[in-house]
Amino acid sequence: MRAIEHYVSGKALIGASGRHGDVYNPNTGAVQAQVALANAREIDAAVQSAAKAFPGWAATNPQRRARVMFAFKQLVEKNMDELAHLLSSEHGKVIADSKGDIQRGLEVIEFACGIPHALKGEYTEGAGPGIDVYSMRQPLGVVAGITPFNFPAMIPMWMFGVAIATGNTFVLKPSEKDPSVPVRLAELMMEAGAPEGVLNVAHGDKEAVDAIIAHPEIKAISFVGSSDIAHYIYSHGTANGKRVQAMGGAKNHGIVLPDADLDQVVKDLVGAAYGSAGERCMALPVVVPVGKKTADDLRERLIPEIEKLKVGISTDADAQYGPVVSLAHKRKVEDYIGLGAKEGAELVRDGRGFKLQGYEEGFFVGPTLFDKVSTEMRTYKEEIFGPVLQIMRAENFEEALALPSQHQYGNGVAIFTRNGRAAREFAQRVNVGMVGINVPIPVPVAYHTFGGWKRSAFGDTNQHGMEGVKFYTKVKTVTARWPEGDVGDQSFVIPTMR
Ligand code: NAD
Repeated sequence: MRAIEHYVSGKALIGASGRHGDVYNPNTGAVQAQVALANAREIDAAVQSAAKAFPGWAATNPQRRARVMFAFKQLVEKNMDELAHLLSSEHGKVIADSKGDIQRGLEVIEFACGIPHALKGEYTEGAGPGIDVYSMRQPLGVVAGITPFNFPAMIPMWMFGVAIATGNTFVLKPSEKDPSVPVRLAELMMEAGAPEGVLNVAHGDKEAVDAIIAHPEIKAISFVGSSDIAHYIYSHGTANGKRVQAMGGAKNHGIVLPDADLDQVVKDLVGAAYGSAGERCMALPVVVPVGKKTADDLRERLIPEIEKLKVGISTDADAQYGPVVSLAHKRKVEDYIGLGAKEGAELVRDGRGFKLQGYEEGFFVGPTLFDKVSTEMRTYKEEIFGPVLQIMRAENFEEALALPSQHQYGNGVAIFTRNGRAAREFAQRVNVGMVGINVPIPVPVAYHTFGGWKRSAFGDTNQHGMEGVKFYTKVKTVTARWPEGDVGDQSFVIPTMR
């Protein structure tokens, strides 16, 4: 059985904790590898490696750090096919989606290539007599990232791309469900010229995460995953004096106004609800048509498109989505489908018990559609994270606006309309962090920032863009006086800018 080891100081660190996790191929349901699960000692080894590399890396000028990022981008592009196949084989998403996962991460690396510009401080000439004031952004030290299974390339790159370019050294604790691509990324980073210890990967579960939260040398933690764990990491990490940004779960709504182009909306919805088997934090699992006619028309057009969807193994070029990540997750999604029917929603298409010929043990769930979902249902309140679309009927604009605004999650939302004024008002008033106008999955480009509201994110700063730069740096402000002649004795009074 293939063993997936930690990656510390530019080489494999053989797991010595005695604990391992199974890594599945979700297409076949078979275990394909065993990943080492770190204990506190192995986390410490990764942290010590990063701490040793920090002074030299922080002192490397930003342009040289950017050159490493350029070289890394080129290496990832060169190895795109290998990385995408590896990613699909552990996650289950189709190859095109895996390439998208890697490409969206690379866009953050492209942003990081411009880090010298982003790190420029502020300067005030003549703030007082002979006094100039300037600020600089300095790295924090050793920082850690803890990432979910659903974007094993993009989300690590969101974090280490910005953290390393700004001069920090990094310990990545990727999801133990699909750990191979993060290790390959770290190897490629070394090949690109990053010194040993700048990027380390330690695999693990709660034990490893708790060791990261407790480690005094780790100055900041960036987390992406489900909300309860995000909150746990945020509260314990900040209590330990660390800077923490913790992104959580989601339940994104797509509002369809009566004037929307319904054919386009149906295409967008099918991709956004079922793509990657619904395992995207920016998926659109809830559609809110406004008015009965819009709802009936939409449902009528959706059904044949859902029936046409091709579910297949991740290497099937014609498949639109593949299996979910694990058997436990398949069962969870199927339980939610059963619950939805029990709660009184109309189960229009039922994806339970889906079997793909030749891959009967794979973790597949068929496309599922509910209509007449209402706010008190658990299946509406909670995140399902599977290929399940729920229709929530709203009578008018205000009712539609209230649904995402009052939901516990506030990651993304979309509105479909031809009315610019209605779209503008919606974007201004909705209580959600990322808004799409006729864009079903409004993931911001890398030089803007990514982050939800409410229980979708804990902490003050978003991922990547200038918010990422702020998260991974601290500001130092220098007030310098080079007076002409004698300024007199002012030693005992607070300096003022006279
Ligand atoms: P998860 O919360 O189960 O795991 C995330 C990370 O936390 C993993 O590295 C895992 O090893 C670790 N972890 C798991 N259990 C833990 C515990 N008890 N204590 C400490 N750490 C623990 O999430 P997942 O299933 O890997 O990913 C799916 C979730 O991530 C969904 O809720 C999805 O919405 C969310 N997500 C959010 C965003 C966002 O930006 N808001 C992006 C992607 C995914």
